[in-house]
Amino acid sequence: ELDGGTITEAEEYEADVEKLDSPQYVKDKLKREIKRLKSLAGNNAEANVERTYIETCLELPWNVSTEDNKDIDNAAKVLDSDHYGMKDIKERILESLAVRNITGSGKAPVICLAGPPGVGKTSIAKSVARSLGRHFVRISLGGVRDEAEIRGHRRTYIGAIPGRIINAMKEAKSKNPVILLDEIDKMASDFKGDPTSAMLEVLDPEQNKYFVDHYLELPFDLSKVLFITTANDLRNIPRPLYDRMEVIDIEGYLEEEKLEIVKNFVLKKQLKENGLSKDFIKMDDEVIKYVINRYTREAGVRQLERTIGKLCRKVVKEMVENPKLKPVTMTKELVVKYLGKEKYRQEPLDMNPQVGLVNGLAWTAVGGVTLEIEVSVLPGKGQIVLTGMMGDVMKESARTGISYIRSIADKLDIEPEFYKNKDIHIHIPEGATPKDGPSAGITMTLATISALTNRPVPGNIAMTGEITLRGRVLAVGGVREKVLAAYRMGIRKIILPKECEADIEKIPETVRNDIEFVLVDKMEEVLEVALLERM
Ligand code: ADP
Repeated sequence: ELDGGTITEAEEYEADVEKLDSPQYVKDKLKREIKRLKSLAGNNAEANVERTYIETCLELPWNVSTEDNKDIDNAAKVLDSDHYGMKDIKERILESLAVRNITGSGKAPVICLAGPPGVGKTSIAKSVARSLGRHFVRISLGGVRDEAEIRGHRRTYIGAIPGRIINAMKEAKSKNPVILLDEIDKMASDFKGDPTSAMLEVLDPEQNKYFVDHYLELPFDLSKVLFITTANDLRNIPRPLYDRMEVIDIEGYLEEEKLEIVKNFVLKKQLKENGLSKDFIKMDDEVIKYVINRYTREAGVRQLERTIGKLCRKVVKEMVENPKLKPVTMTKELVVKYLGKEKYRQEPLDMNPQVGLVNGLAWTAVGGVTLEIEVSVLPGKGQIVLTGMMGDVMKESARTGISYIRSIADKLDIEPEFYKNKDIHIHIPEGATPKDGPSAGITMTLATISALTNRPVPGNIAMTGEITLRGRVLAVGGVREKVLAAYRMGIRKIILPKECEADIEKIPETVRNDIEFVLVDKMEEVLEVALLERM
């Protein structure tokens, strides 16, 4: 089978190696591999493995870089032209870029954009790339549990391929791209090794100049890459990784902000993507708000963008059927015609005082939500039954609350043996899993006290706070998001831990001024405000 084919191929590879812009050790290695390929003539399977390897090495941007645009004013303009609002976030990104200009890439911490889905994490990272004139590649880390996915498989392994980092470099076509490490909080470890330690090496300026992928067997220089990471939930990032990061929080948008985003960005973008001229669909504020409130429920704007896109496609379809179609002015009726009936109707909260029912606030991966926590007390054997959305942390927190209640039972005229002869049933209806379990502590405790004493709790108050055995109220996370959620539901009085006082500053002024905040240190203060007299 020595038909000359393989030899010509090898010669071609040799020519490519000569042209390759790479360190000498890469060329030397490739020459050895080409030699081996020649010797493999006739052995197809192995020759194929060899070819793939050679081609992978030839495709990598060993010495290829793009020229950075170091003009910070230009970067500011690009970030502004791509995104509405996000003032603090843009400023911090620009600061970080400026620091990089001065100190060189290595020393600066890795930016981590943290926030719920659809708030613009990916798109701001893309803008950073655009502003610097660098290429952009996204690596999704969600569900990565095997170290080899980061660092590659050895070539002796059947079907071996490089890891995701080297693959991204191939895609980037330059050694200094912006690489977005998406959902770094969703990496997990299992018996196949710990991707975290591989990731640490990738991000460590001391080590990443000589990053060795198992497949490649050659060190590849990652030190010029600008890595940006994203996370929904910071608590899931392993400590050593977290310590390398500078976290920039991106929080959810208010209705008004979403409106501006649609008016200035999303509608234009969707019209263009669907081949419609820029004024073909007109939507006034009220109609946009109708879409926001009745067809989406999210902290970000992803669902909203998809929904506007769907409206555009319906109009396109109509235009195909009727080429003379005039520009469309959207009305609520047309929205219903195109999107079907409303998906979300704000069930107004029952603002009347009730026994055993308290509005809690939770912070989930998709933003803040209100939770109606419901407790009923029945004759029984002292069981605590928890149903609905309940994690272990919540159960723990419910038990802490009950121990606290035992310690003050006499003051509240609660039968001292209640924990032995009554069953306490705590139910949290629905919603996503909270990011911070214990933050429903004071809510569950109040609902339980209300049920035990038959004293009602006002329906127009919401609260969040962790409780200790002695009834101290401790700080919780996500205050801004939680308050915004309560506000959306029409609540204007909120109980928060005193320790969270500083977080109130982060709430937009229009909302902040409209809400009465009650700051508490102790559970007793919650009772004073929220436990009414028996009716
Ligand atoms: P994430 O990465 O946080 O999940 P994306 O970056 O994918 O979110 O954002 C979803 C969509 O919403 C994108 O099309 C993005 O451009 C748009 N978007 C988000 N925030 C803004 C904003 N502040 N201004 C304009 N568009 C935005």
